[in-house]
Amino acid sequence: MAMDPSALEKMQRPRYLGMPTFMRAPAHDGPAGLDIAMIGVPYDGGVTNRPGARHGPREVRNQSSLMRLVNQATGVEPYSLATVGDIGDVFIERPFHLESSHEEIRRAFEPIMEAGAVPLAVGGDHSISLPILRVVGADRPVGLVHIDAHCDTGDGHLGSRFHHGAPFSRAVDEGVLDPERTVQIGIRGALNDPDQWKFSYDHGMRVIHMHEAREMGLDAVIAEARRVVGDGPTYLSFDIDALDPAYAPGTGTPEIGGFTSFEGQVLVRGMAGLNLVGADLVEVAPPFDPSGVTALTGATLMFEIICILSQVIASRRG
Ligand code: MN
Ligand code: MN
Repeated sequence: MAMDPSALEKMQRPRYLGMPTFMRAPAHDGPAGLDIAMIGVPYDGGVTNRPGARHGPREVRNQSSLMRLVNQATGVEPYSLATVGDIGDVFIERPFHLESSHEEIRRAFEPIMEAGAVPLAVGGDHSISLPILRVVGADRPVGLVHIDAHCDTGDGHLGSRFHHGAPFSRAVDEGVLDPERTVQIGIRGALNDPDQWKFSYDHGMRVIHMHEAREMGLDAVIAEARRVVGDGPTYLSFDIDALDPAYAPGTGTPEIGGFTSFEGQVLVRGMAGLNLVGADLVEVAPPFDPSGVTALTGATLMFEIICILSQVIASRRG
């Protein structure tokens, strides 16, 4: 498929010019005609520590102006394989209400699936993955590649079970996520309770702690992730705090001892060929990111995700 001429034209203009969209892709009113619909979810009403991820989509758009057309490592040219557009942000009308905000997010993703587009969301805190999974997992539970410092399979905290430390336990409870096809990569940090991630273990999720990932090596981590999710429909969720805060300081719940930026890129590339039905990049919090490096890193990982999604789309087209 030929490159969207408006995208090409944009690439020939100064990258600092004009209103930013994700990847300088064309802005669209909705998902019609798109293979990959990029969408911002500027919501952080589910954070348990420092807020700010509501500003993530805008800064990732800004930093994504630096992104280019060809993946130097893999040779993938995503915009030749798939039609990619920015459909704007979810407009949450009642952001002070956590559960109704999730319902507003869910309703915003329904038309994306109905249009046959693959959603690529930028958060926002990690609680936004739950309403997205309610849509992508509505017909059958999906598998999950979850890259994060935290399992996010907690339970009630400060009066809610829907905060950003619990989306994946709720998704299992609701039957939209298959725990036995879930792999969680990069888990680390001290706990308040040795059983903090008991939900993951008890439900058969494969938890690859950071120290284990270091011992295994990235190739083995990737092979294990691919084994766990298999060839069924799978969602990819990348929490920027999986990276070491030396690389990604702008996030709400930083944990030292994490992946490098390069390792994050390699992990995403390693998921090429999986049956991906959607993805998100969450927890970029610009107020803690004065240099913009976290948003730049988020935008770059987003480009890696676009590359593997575009390959899936091309292979489905045959
Ligand atoms: Mn998370
Ligand atoms: Mn996290």
